Amino acid sequence: MDFKLTEEQELFVAGVRELMTRENWEPYFAECDVKHEYPLRWVKALADLGIDTMLLPEEHGGMNAGMVALTAIWEELGRLGGPTYVLYQLPGFNTILREGTQEQIDKIFALRGTGRQMWNSAITEPGAGSDVGSLQTSYTRKNGKVSLNGHKCFITSSLHAPYLVVMARDAASEKPVFSEWFVDMSLPGIKLNPLEKLGLRMDSCCEVIFDNVELEEKDLFGKAGNGFNRVKEEFDAERFLVACTNYGAAYCAFEDAAKYANQRVQFGEAIGRTQLIQEKFAHMAIHLNSMKNMLYECAWKCDQGTMTSGDAAMCKYYCANASFAVIDSAMQVLAGIGIASNHRVNRFWRDVRVDRVSGGTDEMQILTLGRAVLKKYR
Ligand SMILES: Cc1cc2nc3c(=O)[nH]c(=O)nc-3n(C[C@H](O)[C@H](O)[C@H](O)COP(=O)(O)OP(=O)(O)OC[C@H]3O[C@@H](n4cnc5c(N)ncnc54)[C@H](O)[C@@H]3O)c2cc1C
Repeated sequence: MDFKLTEEQELFVAGVRELMTRENWEPYFAECDVKHEYPLRWVKALADLGIDTMLLPEEHGGMNAGMVALTAIWEELGRLGGPTYVLYQLPGFNTILREGTQEQIDKIFALRGTGRQMWNSAITEPGAGSDVGSLQTSYTRKNGKVSLNGHKCFITSSLHAPYLVVMARDAASEKPVFSEWFVDMSLPGIKLNPLEKLGLRMDSCCEVIFDNVELEEKDLFGKAGNGFNRVKEEFDAERFLVACTNYGAAYCAFEDAAKYANQRVQFGEAIGRTQLIQEKFAHMAIHLNSMKNMLYECAWKCDQGTMTSGDAAMCKYYCANASFAVIDSAMQVLAGIGIASNHRVNRFWRDVRVDRVSGGTDEMQILTLGRAVLKKYR
């Protein structure tokens, strides 16, 4: 295993570093966070560098850059304060290529290069969180049409994404059969209620109500009855990306706090010269180093096609918790200005806390990982 980046990967990282340092993006991010706005100008600038299609195969105009390259780019963007959590949809081009019909592919690929939000999965419901199998949203076939009814909640990006891929059960089947539907969000019968969030505020989160939304058979996404298998594969990649995002934010908080500790003077010396503050940095460095090694190993496995659900769960659980510990220590070092100002570390603290729940809770990661570990010894 060699984590050294290739010349091409180094150039890619240098490109995003140049983008992040050619202007001070922080006031823009702070404003988007306060206003709950998607940072379109930033995502468009990344799309101009080809980041949006970096995972796509070359025959589809992408770079087939792989997960190690993506990890290096997410690391650099995060270290320089970029809200990489708004980029989760970008790898979604590959999913559409794999699962979508030509019409669905054309609709999503029309958004390529624009930086705009594209689509997201809608699974969670008020009565079905971790227990996704208990979801009640249903589809009914009648007179050659399909009618979708139900209530989804906590759906990321749903305020502006033009399409959602909605998981629903077949109302005509006694056994639970789950299929996904590619839903145009401008259709009649769809109601959105935006939700206030603690963090990750540059992306929206809504309750979505489907009231007799009329679909057609061609709107089926993927294979009929295969909904859960499809999202299970997707969960691993999503969890890995959450972990990369968490690591980047922690890295940024660590560097902000380290600079501050070296210049903030109390009792006649820089606080970084006191042993209690040094101890925090020692633990922060251990966490950062462990996250980095875990993520690059996992990205490498992903590129070899050997990443397992246990690997993804380990990354998500460990990085969400370790990055929260790092960012919390950074807050302690910054003290008053971390708490009572719009310092970006304050934002990271709120953002990372959310990731211990969204994309699968800490507890669900532990259960997945525990099962995966024991399976090897059966
Ligand atoms: C900001 C945000 C964005 C989200 N985006 C999306 C999205 O785009 N699409 C989507 O479909 N969903 C989305 N979700 C939903 C998210 O996946 C769920 O919130 C999550 O799976 C947990 O569901 P819940 O909140 O209903 O908690 P519950 O499942 O009710 O769990 C409550 C608590 O009980 C624990 N628990 C539950 N069952 C067990 C068990 N068997 N053993 C031990 N502990 C257990 C949980 O870990 C948790 O601590 C989002 C959530 C948030 C907060």
